[in-house]
Formats: sequence, structure tokens, C-alpha cells
Amino acid sequence: MDIHHCIIIGSGPAGYTAAIYAARANMHPILFTGAEPGGQLMITTEVENFPGYPNGIHGPQLMDDLQKQAERFETQVRYEKITGVDFTGPIHKVWTESGEVISAHAVIISTGASAKWLGIDSEKRLMNKGVSACAVCDGFFFKGKEVAIVGGGDTAAEEASYLAKLCPKVHLLVRKDHMRASKIMQERVQNTANIQIHWNSETVEILGEDGVTGIRIRDVKNSTVSEIPVSAFFVAIGHSPNSQPFHGWLDMDDQGYLVTKPGTTQTNVAGVFACGDVQDRIYRQAVTAAGTGCMAALDAERYLTNSGII
Ligand code: NDP
Repeated sequence: MDIHHCIIIGSGPAGYTAAIYAARANMHPILFTGAEPGGQLMITTEVENFPGYPNGIHGPQLMDDLQKQAERFETQVRYEKITGVDFTGPIHKVWTESGEVISAHAVIISTGASAKWLGIDSEKRLMNKGVSACAVCDGFFFKGKEVAIVGGGDTAAEEASYLAKLCPKVHLLVRKDHMRASKIMQERVQNTANIQIHWNSETVEILGEDGVTGIRIRDVKNSTVSEIPVSAFFVAIGHSPNSQPFHGWLDMDDQGYLVTKPGTTQTNVAGVFACGDVQDRIYRQAVTAAGTGCMAALDAERYLTNSGII
């Protein structure tokens, strides 16, 4: 059985950046794209905050460019999902969906995280037409417009504050009579004049045909339904790290994010590295994912060199 130098699992900015660095270091990486090649940026329209694109770039175009750059240095890209792993020994094994077993000395995990959605029909229909799970990515497009955001955690609080700098009014929809966000973030939101908090509010429907024109919300205490005209609807109800195949093998926090040794991408298993959103619950930006992808490839290269493999 062939033992490869390096396998990369996941095809977002972290995975492709790891591939570019690993390929250029002669590690002949095989990158498994997973079920959603390109990751979260494939469902984004314009990306304006990735350095190097003064006029912005479409998310899918950016991912296509990253893939081409990785392939230019002979990364082998395989459109398959990894469903299981065995990290028992120094030779790491991964299973593809079709049951094939691939072995490697180093494994870089960049499987990302998926935004949680409310699950209502209008949310799906208006996705990218005013419905977004990333205010930092898409808020700018609604500068000067009235917008709404749902969630009661730190992300919702932080993104509501961010939107309040761009928009004349931000409606924050919280499903309970209190927020889960840290005290300081709650205070910031409550002290911002143009953020209106709607307590005990549930989103019934997002209104609009080709773009968001408003929302219909229900007060869960008295069942009163009301409508608010808004141009965008942001969902900030949390993310789930895509770490399921690694349960039982790798250290994770209480929410399933992979734990890495501070300042490195090293997991608790020698030769297994994690980068991008699957190990980052705080920043979650394309550029930070790319940065940790670079770190993972450098860490893997050092590991292979120190082990006498390359
Ligand atoms: P959280 O899981 O902390 O919060 C999710 C929020 O969304 C909760 O208020 C929850 O309500 C609400 N929610 C969940 N499902 C629904 C639904 N179907 N409808 C309406 N509301 C819903 O996620 P976050 O992304 O906010 O934070 C994740 C982690 O990242 C946290 O540990 C947070 O502290 C951290 N973080 C830290 C930051 C910082 O320090 N600067 C910035 C951003 C995040 P309920 O409370 O009722 O369950």
C-alpha cells in the first residue's frame, strides 16, 4: 500500500493554502474536497475583504483560483468525502466515501464549519439575495439600509455592533428574554442607539421576491405577529465545526472545535494538524483560515523532516 506524505481534508481557503505550501515543499499532497468543494465561500457573492483584490472577487471565483494555484504545483485534488479515520499509529489512515483506504504520514484537517440556519423556506429562497450568515462579509452591501439580525450570542452581538456602524437601524431578534452573549457585548449592544432589540421574538418569514424587503416576526409570549421592513437579514445563531469523522481520535472543545497546541496547528496526535474554521471559533475569516492553512503545511513539513520522511 502506498504511504503518501500528506493528505489534506477539506477544500476551503485553509485547505487550498495548505496544499499550495505543501506542494511547493515537495510533499505531493492529496486534497479531498469533501461534499462541498470550495466550502463556505461558494455560497458567498462578492468577497471584498480578502487582501489582494482591490475590486473584490466572487467567492466561487476565489476558490477556483485557489484550486488552480494548488494544482499548478501538482496537488492531486479528489472530489470525495472522508468518512472515517484511524490515527492509531504513525501511519495515518483515512477512509473515503467509496470505502478506499488512503495512508499518509501527515494529515492536515481543514474541514471548516457550517453556519447554522433557521430552516425556514424563505431563508433558503433569499439566500445571497439579502439573507446571509456573515455580517462582516456582506454587511457592507447594505450600507445605509435598515437590516435585521437573529441570535443572542457573542456573534450576534458583535455583528449587530458591526452593522450599526454601517446601517441607520439594526433590529436584533432574540428568541428569549435574555441574551447568551458575554456581559460586555450585551452592554455594548444595549447602549447602541440604533440597535433595537426585539426580545422573545421568533422569525416567521423573510419577505421579498428577488431581494429581502422585510421580516415577519412573532412575539412568543403573546403570539402577536408584526412586520418590519428591512433590506437584509443576517443569521448569527452559531456554527457547527465539521469535525464528526474525528470524534474519539482528536481533542475537541465542548462544541466540537478541534483543539490545537497554542501557536501551532498541532493536534493531540503527532502528524495530524488542524487549520481553518474547524479549529477557530473566534475569527472565522477566509484570510485567517488561509493563514492557518499555511501554518499547517509548515508544521507538517517540519514534522516530516524531523521524522526523516522527507
Ligand atoms: P452561540 O451558540 O453562543 O449562540 C447562539 C445564539 O443563537 C444563542 O443566543 C441562541 O439562543 C440563538 N439561537 C440558536 N438557534 C436559534 C434559532 N433557531 N432561532 C433563534 N435564535 C437561535 O453562538 P455564537 O456564534 O454567538 O458564539 C459561538 C462561540 O464563539 C461562543 O463561545 C462565543 O462566546 C464565541 N465568540 C466569541 C467572540 C468574541 O469573544 N469576540 C465573538 C464571537 C463568538 P439561546 O440562547 O436561546 O439558545
